[in-house]
Amino acid sequence: MANNQDNNPKKNPLIPRPTPKNNYQIWLLILIIGVVSSLYYFNRATPTINITQKRFEKMLAAGDVKNIVIVNKRFVEVYLTVEALNKPEYREEFAHRSPMALMQGPHYKFNIASDEKFLNDLDEIQKDIPRDKRLEFSTENDRPDFSNIFWTWGFLFFLVFGFYFLMRRMTGAGPGGQIFNIGKSRAALFDAENKVKVTFADVAGLDEAKQEVEEIVDFLKNPTKYTNLGGKIPKGCLLVGPPGTGKTLLAKAVAGEAGVPFFSLSGSDFVEMFVGVGAARVRDLFKQAKEKAPCIVFIDEIDAIGRSRGRGMMPGANDERENTLNSLLVEMDGFGTDSGVIILAATNRPDVLDSALLRPGRFDRQISVDKPDIIGREAIFRVHLKPLKLSDDVDVKKLAAQTPGFAGAEIANVCNEAALIAARHDKKKIDMKDFQDAIDRVIGGLEKKNKIISPEEKRIVAYHEAGHAIAGWFLEHADPLVKVSIVPRGVAALGYAQYLPKEQFLYTTEQLLDEMCMTLGGRAAEDVVFGKISTGALSDLERVTKMAYSMVSIYGMNEKIGNISFYDSKRSDYMFEKPYSEATAKLIDDEVKKLVDQAYQRTKNLLISKRHELELIAQELLSKEIIFQSDIERLIGKRPFAHQTAYEAYTQGSSQNSKEPVPANESKEQ
Ligand code: ADP
Repeated sequence: MANNQDNNPKKNPLIPRPTPKNNYQIWLLILIIGVVSSLYYFNRATPTINITQKRFEKMLAAGDVKNIVIVNKRFVEVYLTVEALNKPEYREEFAHRSPMALMQGPHYKFNIASDEKFLNDLDEIQKDIPRDKRLEFSTENDRPDFSNIFWTWGFLFFLVFGFYFLMRRMTGAGPGGQIFNIGKSRAALFDAENKVKVTFADVAGLDEAKQEVEEIVDFLKNPTKYTNLGGKIPKGCLLVGPPGTGKTLLAKAVAGEAGVPFFSLSGSDFVEMFVGVGAARVRDLFKQAKEKAPCIVFIDEIDAIGRSRGRGMMPGANDERENTLNSLLVEMDGFGTDSGVIILAATNRPDVLDSALLRPGRFDRQISVDKPDIIGREAIFRVHLKPLKLSDDVDVKKLAAQTPGFAGAEIANVCNEAALIAARHDKKKIDMKDFQDAIDRVIGGLEKKNKIISPEEKRIVAYHEAGHAIAGWFLEHADPLVKVSIVPRGVAALGYAQYLPKEQFLYTTEQLLDEMCMTLGGRAAEDVVFGKISTGALSDLERVTKMAYSMVSIYGMNEKIGNISFYDSKRSDYMFEKPYSEATAKLIDDEVKKLVDQAYQRTKNLLISKRHELELIAQELLSKEIIFQSDIERLIGKRPFAHQTAYEAYTQGSSQNSKEPVPANESKEQ
C-alpha cells in the first residue's frame, strides 16, 4: 500500500514515543538472574565431584588421599595426591578440568551426618596405622554457603515482594495506588496546567442542553449576579441520555468554557472490594474539590453508585454501595451553595437512581441529552467533517438523512471510518461512497467478503428483506424505509433493512400494530414465496413477541385485559413472583398469541396482494445488494400515503440544496 508509513516514532506522530518509565521490576529481574547465574558459575569453577563415604574409604585405603577438610560440620572435601591424579581412573573423571584447577583441588566431596561420627569412623578405619602417619585433616566451620543464603533469603525476598505486588495490583497500580492511598479519590484533575480544550463550539446540536449548562458557566464566573438577588446556585446537574450522545463532551465543554479546575471520574471509581473505601473516596473528592473551588466535579456513569438503595439486593449482600451513596448524599448536603463547587453527573439510566439523589438541593437540574434528530445529526456531521478532506459530492444533509437513530459517537465513528476507507483505497479525498460504506460498517459490522453464502440462501435473504420493505411501504403507520442491504456482515449476519424512526414519543395502537406487521414482513415473505420458513427471522420474532407482551400487559392496549399495567417501576431485579394470577397469565399468553397471529395473517395477505412489487424489489436487491428509498420509489412508485413526513420534507430540501458547499471543505489541514 502506498501509505505504508515510516515506523520511526520520531517521524510519525501517530506512533507514541516510548516514555521513560521507572522500570524497577526489570532491574530486579536482572539482579535475580545475575545472582542465580553467578552462583551457578562459582559452583562450576570448583567442580568437585560428589561421592559416597564408602568410595572415600576405598581411596583412603589405596593411599590416594592427600588430606581432607571438614567444612561446616556438614561435608568433607577430599584432596588427592599428585600420584593418584595420574591414575587413569581419576584422570578420566577430571578429563575436562584444566591442569591448574586439577592441581588445586578439592577433587571430591561427600556429605556427613555429623563431624563427630565421621571422625570416629576415620579413627576406626585407621586404627592400625600409627597416629603420625594417619590422614591429615583440617576443619573449617565458618565458610559462607551461597546456595543456603540464596534459598533462605531469596524465599523471604520473594515473599515480601510478592505480597507488595499483590497489594499494588489490588489497589490499582500507579501513583497513589499503594495500600495507604486506597481511600484517596481517583479523579483526574484538569486545571491551569492541564487544560480542557473542548468548547461549546465542539458540541453540535443539543441546543437546550447547551443553554442550561451555559448558565452553569455563568454561575461560576459571576456568582454574585445570582446571589445578590437572593437566589441559590444549583449544586448539581444531572445529564441524562443514551450512551454516546455527548454527555461527557458537554461536561468537558463546561469546564473548558468556565476556565475552572475540572475533576473527572466515573461512578465505578468509587467501587472497591474493601469496605468503606467508596465512602472515603467520596469524602476525599469533596475535600479536594473544596480546596480548588470554584471548580466542577464530573461523575460519569453515576448509576454505578447511585442506584436506589435496597433495590436489587440479594439477601446477605454487601451494602458497600449504599454506604458510598450515603456518603455522597451527605457530602452534597454538606457544602454550601456559595462554595463554588458544582457537580455534574451523567447517566443513561435515570430510572434506577435513588430518589434522594434526585431531590432538589442535590441534583437540582436534570438535563436530557437525547439522540439527535435529523437537524442535530447534520450539525454533528459538520463538526466532525471539519478536519476531513472531502470531495465535492459529499452532501451533509443526505448523510444526516441516512443515519437515523445514530448518536453523536456513532456519527464521529462514521466520519473516522470513511476517512480510513478512503485512505485504504489511496484516495486523495473522501467521497460519498466512502461515507456510505462507513455507515454500513457502523450499522452492520465488517463486510464479510468471503463469507460463504449459497445462491439459494441469498435468494431467501433477498425476499426476506424485500418483505420488510414492502410491508413498511404499504402500511400507513410504519416507519419509512431508508435502505436495504443483503451484503453479509459481521453483526447483522445476512442482511438488514434500515428505517427512519419517527421523532415521536407516543405511539398509538395502530402504529404498534403496523410496526409488528412490518417486523413480521420478512418471515411472511419467505412463507409466501417459498412456501417454507427459515431461522433468519429470529431477531424479528423476538422483537414482535416483546412488543406484543408490552401492548397486552404494560400499555393496557388489549380489550380483554383492559386498562391495566403490570409494569412496576420500583420492582427489584430479584423479584420473581408475578403480580397477577395464573388465570391472568393464561389470558395474557392467549391474547399475545392472538395478536401476533392476526398481525402475521395481515402481513401475509398484504404480501400476496403485492406479490409483483415484492418480486421487483427482491430482484433489484439480488442484482444490486444495496438499495435505497429512491430505488424503491423508482420501481414501485411513491408511498400511497398523502402526508409528507418531516423526513421527506427535509430530504427534498436537501436535494434542492445539494450543491451547497460543505464548510468542512474549506479546511485543508488534518
Ligand atoms: P456519552 O458521555 O454521552 O456516552 P460522549 O460525550 O463520550 O458520550 O461522546 C463520545 C463522542 O461522540 C464524543 O467524543 C464526540 O466525538 C462524539 N459526540 C457525541 N455527541 C456529540 C455532539 N453533540 N457533537 C459533537 N460530537 C459529539
